[in-house]
Amino acid sequence: MVNSLVAERMQEFPAAIHRLLPHYRISELCPYTFLISPASGKALCPPAPKEIPLTLFGAIHGNEVVGIQILNEVLELLASGQLVLHFPLAVALGNYRAVAQGARYCDKDLNRSFGGGKGTAWELERAAELSKVLSKSWYFVDFHQTSQPSLEPFFIFPFSRKNVQFAREISPRQAVITHWHGGFSVDGMATDELVTKVGGIGLTVETGQNGFSPYQESLGVHTALKALKAVDFHLRKHHQLPVYGQEPGAKERNPLYTWAQLQAYPSTGEVVLKPGLLNFQAVTQGDILGTHNGEPLVATATGKLLFPKYLDSVIDRGRRPAELWRVIVPIAVEDLPAEA
Ligand SMILES: [Zn+2]
Repeated sequence: MVNSLVAERMQEFPAAIHRLLPHYRISELCPYTFLISPASGKALCPPAPKEIPLTLFGAIHGNEVVGIQILNEVLELLASGQLVLHFPLAVALGNYRAVAQGARYCDKDLNRSFGGGKGTAWELERAAELSKVLSKSWYFVDFHQTSQPSLEPFFIFPFSRKNVQFAREISPRQAVITHWHGGFSVDGMATDELVTKVGGIGLTVETGQNGFSPYQESLGVHTALKALKAVDFHLRKHHQLPVYGQEPGAKERNPLYTWAQLQAYPSTGEVVLKPGLLNFQAVTQGDILGTHNGEPLVATATGKLLFPKYLDSVIDRGRRPAELWRVIVPIAVEDLPAEA
């Protein structure tokens, strides 16, 4: 069952959207998905064929609820006039049905459902309607949270030069985890993969462990505001309008990582993960991180731990995920490919 605070925050989302009238025009693109456009003056449009300059998603995983609060706060800033939008912005709460159930997903992981799939899972239907929004988006930020605590917040996204540049423009000192050897997961496509594949610029931000948190809320709102600012800058440049200040993020360098190990979750047998593992904790090659049927499971690289997975009876309902952990290793800018 979902707690009342989550239910309240969910109800607040469409209510906050409607408070933007009459200063903004609102179109409901699909459930819990809105396009907000300035009601007067000329709205800046992105380079064709893109139609939406910036899209912000939260709660693609139903238990990662801080994204709801981040979007609500951005809407509140718009409603109060403290933040003024000169271009269309799309916002969505991804897996609103899983949010209502307090689960990561209902039938299938929504963030592995983009790019199609067979079956009758509700998430495939939801991914199909959200894909239409993502395909039209020039820039995109997806707010996520980790299952276990994280020693630091981080970006994670498929590699493209433009994605790395956008991360730099938003949070120049925040860790960037990127990858260019195939997809994020063997299960299916994630939001940022779809955006990147169709020529957009898309990032995922992991603010910290799932749940409401004042620190993560402010980090997320800051991220959203920086994204709005960067997109405003790029739109002005595109339309040859005067720009204010320097090119964002021109000289900054985020710490870069990619993964060297992706430990699959055994599909059968007893899996025991060492208790208390954290995201970004240091690990050394050969460290025993758990056991499978009593046999040791080890880190095969020296670096930092990512996404250690303990099954949660409510969130996972006994369903095994595809992976048990990842090990990420630092890389230099020179290690990045020319273009994936
Ligand atoms: Zn997530």
